[in-house]
Amino acid sequence: MGLRLRIIAIAVFSILVAPVARPITPAAVIDDPAQGAVWDLSPLFRDTDAWEKERAAVDAALPELSRINGTLGSSAAALKAGLRQISAIRQRLERLDEYANLNAAVDASSDVNQARVQQVGEIQSRFDGVTAFLKPEILALGRERIEAFEKADPGLSIYRRLLELILRRAAHTLNPEAEAVVTATGPLRQQPSAIHDVLLYAEMPWPSLKVNGTMTPLSPDVSRAAQFNPDRELRRQAFESVTQTLSHFEGTAGAIAAGYLAGTAFEAKVRHYPSSLALAVADDAMPEDTFKVMAAEASGAQPTLLRYLKARQRLLGLAEIHVYDLRVPLAPPPHRYTLTEAETLILNAMAPLGEYYVRMLKMGFDNHAMHAASQHGKMPGAGTQYEAYGVQPFVILTFDGSFDSVSTVAHEWGHAINGQLTQAAQPFETADIASTFVADAPSLTNEILLSDYMIANAKTRQDRISALDHAIDLLRYSYFGAFVDVEFEMKAHEIADRGDAVTGQTLNEIYCGLYKRFNGIDAGVTAFDASACAGWINRPGLYYDFYFYKYLTAVSAAAYFVDGLEKNDAEARKRYFDLLKAGGSDDPYILLKRAGFDAASPIAYQPMARRLERLVAQLEVAVAQSIGDVPRANH
Ligand SMILES: [Zn+2]
Repeated sequence: MGLRLRIIAIAVFSILVAPVARPITPAAVIDDPAQGAVWDLSPLFRDTDAWEKERAAVDAALPELSRINGTLGSSAAALKAGLRQISAIRQRLERLDEYANLNAAVDASSDVNQARVQQVGEIQSRFDGVTAFLKPEILALGRERIEAFEKADPGLSIYRRLLELILRRAAHTLNPEAEAVVTATGPLRQQPSAIHDVLLYAEMPWPSLKVNGTMTPLSPDVSRAAQFNPDRELRRQAFESVTQTLSHFEGTAGAIAAGYLAGTAFEAKVRHYPSSLALAVADDAMPEDTFKVMAAEASGAQPTLLRYLKARQRLLGLAEIHVYDLRVPLAPPPHRYTLTEAETLILNAMAPLGEYYVRMLKMGFDNHAMHAASQHGKMPGAGTQYEAYGVQPFVILTFDGSFDSVSTVAHEWGHAINGQLTQAAQPFETADIASTFVADAPSLTNEILLSDYMIANAKTRQDRISALDHAIDLLRYSYFGAFVDVEFEMKAHEIADRGDAVTGQTLNEIYCGLYKRFNGIDAGVTAFDASACAGWINRPGLYYDFYFYKYLTAVSAAAYFVDGLEKNDAEARKRYFDLLKAGGSDDPYILLKRAGFDAASPIAYQPMARRLERLVAQLEVAVAQSIGDVPRANH
């Protein structure tokens, strides 16, 4: 079920940190390198009539499920039969859902597509309603009775994880009346996030700037793309005018954030969790303080990041480096790629994963499972869906010929192959890779392998600088830079959990402190622009319930796995494949630990720091060799 959410989260996240926001040149739009790359969804449903027939059949089967109510505790066999019946309908629903979502994702402007999404939503609600007895009934049976049933009937083992997640919530589930009240607060709790979106994406009076000769409002995506523009004056104006506009809304944005934080603190408190963080990670059972361990290791890499900023300053030929100089490419991108070239490149770059993986990937590419063409009404961002059990995963992105697009293909196929291997190894009940702590490890593994391949195969110094720049940018923006958001979120929730007042001014101060530390301002390397302290207002992290903390764990794990894979360590590769096959069969901490990555140990985070150190040292060498022959990226 979580996969529709996952696509949205990825879309938002890629806007925020993944390096996908580089401007598309007009030539790339006219000569669409992915022309014709659309998928064939018939493995899901032969056609829309078949979908409609199945929708009606599932709808008609729903009332049957209410008969299970009250029967689960009568015997192990009754428990198994009830769970099996619910599971079977859920499986059919997910297939209906995936088909509706994928069609709407490539053409959201179609009323028919939107209607199908709504229809699935309605059946989903009815399904939730008719099976609402499940959790209370399991909780009433209690752990002891459930475990006795499991012992009596080994056939119940595929439901172990499902039952465990319900039982684990026992201490946090309230009496029926209180549960109903907490559930009823749901829409109220969602409201601040909705207001924040309206402010940011609809009503914020964004300043306009002349971009490529046209006055363009600096909406969030345009202003981020501007940070990659070689025209330094344009970058400066875009950055300053946006942050100054944001700073006028400090009070409003603070009041909205306070409402959201208070809502989370409320639920954590009434459900007897020690903090908002504990509530957010309840299903994941991560050991406490893994974030502190990870953050301490990342903070140890600060001196390396400062060296990178200095190398960047030198290569750009700047007397003073500003925050708006941190993402502009250090060398012009050497090539543009067709989708076929991208696929060949990725197949070569994935060699450390072994022949079996490369063969699966090749089959996936040949299988019409990716929608890469640009198209009217297509959703921005990228995503992969593998919720329909027993059907190949489907990948959606918009390929524009840039290297970032190539990297996005590698990323999404990391998800796709993960989904495929998991489905082959797991029953439907544990095939959902729902935890953010794990989900992006395989996708980032692929991106890092690709960036290493590009460095190793660079033919000129300029190619080499471009490849190193991209590899470091990937780490800075999907990892080291994101600590600002996570620490900001943690601190803001701590204040709200204590019941203290959160205001725009408080949030500004917290963000500013972190921002200066992480961007080399405190160290005197980067110049300070005061309005940047309002930058938290257009970072969506606060409204995603510790999403970034979880995501960063997965990114660290990717760096750890790449280390083993590139050493051609057969044992490491086997453990990695076991993770790809594990799906949602256990707690993410256990799954990662079995693959060698112990999230509670500082050692786990060292490959990431070493990688950064290695890349920066290589860049410094390349910079020393090439000062003078690389076109400077500021004019
Ligand atoms: Zn991803």
